[in-house]
Amino acid sequence: MQDEIKQLDQFIKDSQRIVFFGGAGVSTESGIPDFRSKDGLYNQHDVRFDMYQPEYLLSHSCLVNEPKVYYEFHRQKMDTRSIEPNNAHKYLAKLEESGKLLGIVTQNIDGLHQKAGSQAVYEIHGSALRNYCMSCGREYPEDYIFESEEPIPKCSCGGIIRPDITLYEESLPDDQVSGAIHALAKADMLIIGGTSLTVYPAASFINYFKGNTVVVINESEIGVKPAKNTLVIKRKIGEVFTELAKLQNIEL
Ligand SMILES: [Zn+2]
Repeated sequence: MQDEIKQLDQFIKDSQRIVFFGGAGVSTESGIPDFRSKDGLYNQHDVRFDMYQPEYLLSHSCLVNEPKVYYEFHRQKMDTRSIEPNNAHKYLAKLEESGKLLGIVTQNIDGLHQKAGSQAVYEIHGSALRNYCMSCGREYPEDYIFESEEPIPKCSCGGIIRPDITLYEESLPDDQVSGAIHALAKADMLIIGGTSLTVYPAASFINYFKGNTVVVINESEIGVKPAKNTLVIKRKIGEVFTELAKLQNIEL
């Protein structure tokens, strides 16, 4: 057993109010590509979408001005319904069950934390598993847009049904943001995992954390202000939590 896993175990034992802040790297081990990695969405060549910037395909402008293109891209690239949570999601669900985890703040829109059993999840970029009508607000089930045969899915009121995700040019959902900030401000330990901390304003939220212990689990180096206790583990987060669970005799 590596020393860094033992150190992480000790930090968790010594803490009572842990918050996890995560990004795309938490879901890559489930098979969802990170947008920005070498094999990610931004670097995949797909003849249907090559003429567009990836940021445009995920923007409010695209949804409003070229909805057919927007929905084709969404159906092709955002359908994660068959994807299963990995050991990172599962370990965090167990940590919540144990009473030590205040919440998860995620930039992901795949719903995998909830699928693993987590309850206190703040989805600061929304979720592709929720849909609503842009005119009347009526909610539609998670399959609706993916299964709809209309190029642009329409509500019974005539409005357009859209996914409840935060697109470029849109502001973050207030309720999720305030929940995330509240949890971070109360936490005594922060685990940052699977994120390059390059997407703003999401990345700036960690500034609300005032506790003593910060753990970073990410394959590449990220800039984080050191705390009294700081631990950096440059590995895949699913593997780290698999070993940690074994050390703690937790079955995932
Ligand atoms: Zn409607």
